Amino acid sequence: MELVLEFSVHNQVVMFIGEADQVVNNALLGFYVDTSCLDEVLKVFEVMPQRNVVSWNTLIAGLAGQDRPSETLGAFRVMQGEGMGFSWVTLTTALPVCAQLTALHSGKDTHGFDRMHNRDLTSWNTMLAGYSINGQINEAWALFDEMIRSSIKPDGITFVVLLSGCSHSGLTSQGQRLFNAMEDYGEQPSLEHYACLVDILGRSGKLEEALNVAENIPMRPSGSIWGSLLNSCRLHGNVPLAEIVAKRLFQIEPNNPGNYVMLSNIYANAGMWEDVKRVREMMAMTRIKKDVGCSWIQIKHKIHTFVAGGSTNFRRSAEYIKIWNELSNAIKDLGYIPNTSVVLHDVNEDMKATWVCEHSERLAAVAALINTGAGMPIRITKNLRVCVDCHSWMKAVSKVTKRLIVLRDTNRFHHFQNGTCSCKDYW
Ligand code: ZN
Ligand code: ZN
Repeated sequence: MELVLEFSVHNQVVMFIGEADQVVNNALLGFYVDTSCLDEVLKVFEVMPQRNVVSWNTLIAGLAGQDRPSETLGAFRVMQGEGMGFSWVTLTTALPVCAQLTALHSGKDTHGFDRMHNRDLTSWNTMLAGYSINGQINEAWALFDEMIRSSIKPDGITFVVLLSGCSHSGLTSQGQRLFNAMEDYGEQPSLEHYACLVDILGRSGKLEEALNVAENIPMRPSGSIWGSLLNSCRLHGNVPLAEIVAKRLFQIEPNNPGNYVMLSNIYANAGMWEDVKRVREMMAMTRIKKDVGCSWIQIKHKIHTFVAGGSTNFRRSAEYIKIWNELSNAIKDLGYIPNTSVVLHDVNEDMKATWVCEHSERLAAVAALINTGAGMPIRITKNLRVCVDCHSWMKAVSKVTKRLIVLRDTNRFHHFQNGTCSCKDYW
């Protein structure tokens, strides 16, 4: 029913506007990707008079979602060829699929790209990104050195990839030095590079410095720059600065629920419940709804989806309860205590603990534990950023089950193994 409706909207858009504008086209692309209508995705994409990074990301997500690795990599290359640049989202969507081309899975194995005959700049950048998004920053640096030794001139993308890697691995001074050295390689920093620098400084706790950079960027800063700074304020529990940053952010992105949720989490961590309430009221007034958390796993060629608080039958099943109780006891012995400050609602602690336990990535992890053999790695994809408590839970579960758990959230890959995460708790 909905699908029919949407097709007729498309027809109307084409009839009355003639050429639908970019925003409408991107929304249509997104809709066709969500409904797995890849032919329609390609049709809309073909005829779009103007494409931006969002259009490309949507196309790549569509191809990646249909398990078409060579076309995904092809689109990624054309995108770069058109000088489009790319975002972190592009990388995290395209790279895992591209890695399948070599039938290899872990980040280290993206070195399989070494076998590509044509090691052009794109291949170098793709390999670098493979290391970088998987938190293997030392490998990325080694590869960068090799690239320079081979007289390959790095471009803007190379620097985005390396700077992002530095930021995600907490390499502050190395990242700052690289940013300052860009001009020596003939590259002018663009907005993306400034975004990385703000993130590098913010994550390491140099929040004032980060704010100073953000305020003096020669271009108009994007919402994502202020968003990353707000996340840094969350990491370091700096409420006064978070309020300054949130004000800027709400002006640029008044309808992004993630920003409100993050600010309210910052208040919750500081025990400022009146302010948590105020942010919730702000969200209610502007009719902003928090996105529902959703995670996916693949078991024997089939994708299984889990929604936060959902999958009731599964949660009531004997096998779920058995594994859940075993896990809960084992991780409690390790010292895991639920951190319920991430829960927005000011209800009692037991209730909060229950809500956190029902986050979709945990349901997915338990399902994977039940349905895959001992020692098999577990791969989970999530539509939102992983919360602090699920992150601790995954670390503990990776230790007691002796499993590698790879969780890809909207921000990055987390490799949980033997009680630690590749992000070193920076995310
Ligand atoms: Zn969670
Ligand atoms: Zn992590």
